[in-house]
Amino acid sequence: MSAHIFRELKDTNMKYKNRVRSRVANFKDSKNPNLRINVLSGAISPERIASMTAEEMASDEMRNLRDKFTKEAINDHQMAMTSGTKTDLLKCSKCKKTNCTYNQVQTRSADEPMTTFVLCNECGHRWKVIL
Ligand SMILES: [Zn+2]
Repeated sequence: MSAHIFRELKDTNMKYKNRVRSRVANFKDSKNPNLRINVLSGAISPERIASMTAEEMASDEMRNLRDKFTKEAINDHQMAMTSGTKTDLLKCSKCKKTNCTYNQVQTRSADEPMTTFVLCNECGHRWKVIL
C-alpha cells in the first residue's frame, strides 16, 4: 500500500519536473526571442508562463517564419530536381548518400576538362568534380 502511494508520488514528481524542464527549455530557446522579451518586459507574467502550453509559447510569428522556411526549402528542392541530371553514381562526402544531381558545364574552350557541379539531394551539399 505505502509502496503504491510512493510510486504515485514519484510519478507526479517526475511529471512536474518534466513540465518545468520543458518550460525552461522553451524560455531559453533563442529561436523564440519574443517569449523571453514578453516575460522580461512584464507583458507575460511568470504565473502565465507556468500555465501556458507549448503551442501557446510558439508564437504566431514563429509559426509563420517556420512555414516560410519550409516552403523555401521545398522550392529549393524542386529547383534541384528540375535542373541537372539525377545520378546514384556520385557519393556525397557529407552524408554518404548517393542521391545526387549533377550539371556539366563546359568552360571556355572545348579542350578544357568538363566541370561537373554536383548537388546532394539529401543534405544540400554542393561540390564540383573535374572529369
Ligand atoms: Zn549529402
